[in-house]
Amino acid sequence: MRIGIDLGGTKIEGILMDDAGRELVRRRVPTPKGDYRATVEAIVLLVATLESESGGRATVGVGIPGAISRVSGLVKNANSTCLIGQPLQGDLESALGRQVRLANDANCFALSEAVDGAGRGARVVFGVILGTGVGGGIVVDGRVLEGANAIAGEWGHNPLPLPAGDDLPLRPCYCGRAGCIETYLCGPALQHDGGAAVEAAIARYEARLARALAGVINLLDPDVIVLGGGVSNVDRLYANVPRLWREHVFSDDVATRLAKHAHGDSSGVRGAAWLWGGPPGL
Ligand SMILES: [Zn+2]
Repeated sequence: MRIGIDLGGTKIEGILMDDAGRELVRRRVPTPKGDYRATVEAIVLLVATLESESGGRATVGVGIPGAISRVSGLVKNANSTCLIGQPLQGDLESALGRQVRLANDANCFALSEAVDGAGRGARVVFGVILGTGVGGGIVVDGRVLEGANAIAGEWGHNPLPLPAGDDLPLRPCYCGRAGCIETYLCGPALQHDGGAAVEAAIARYEARLARALAGVINLLDPDVIVLGGGVSNVDRLYANVPRLWREHVFSDDVATRLAKHAHGDSSGVRGAAWLWGGPPGL
């Protein structure tokens, strides 16, 4: 049995999943606001609740907003700032009495879609969350690529390529830089840009997304790019963006597919559960 936990800004969700990926139990609790101790306790209680229904001991994977620093072992890059600088992995492991695997929530999304979602069967999957923020994760041969700095796939804070016209002046980002991809491609940016001229705003969004993803294709050359988060439900992206990215990709033909998520909001918990390995035979 596997337990997957998705630690979000407003809720903590958990599932109990069998080895074939069947979801047996799902529970969610509100995230204690700005309280690290209470957050750890809420996760521990959620694991205990799920485990009580499994009849045995389960592996535990947790998706977090942010990453574990390779230097300090502490949480970094989290937009839930009460987590930053905390020894979350150690605290969970001592409270739960077992090893726990933690990963960035975008990595969990990419893993979930790679294992048995829209990226199933593909060798290289780039998963993108276009939500309140913009995150990315890379999965190769069914395993998350974490990278030397634990930031592989963190493309949301790259600068938007070829900014011009409506992209200027460069938008300030909470990370301290200006012109970050996230400031143009997050859900709130699209809403803000929309106003009365929704059609034009979506067209601008598609052009920006195409330029930003072309950079990913040139570098990583993934088989499939899977979109998640609120903006991924705009269906016209899947026809228009691959048409627009051709101009920017350094190749005569572009085989990379752009696909909509298969598991939706469930990808966070499913990917966290798969941190202990995909289903047998996959
Ligand atoms: Zn930024």
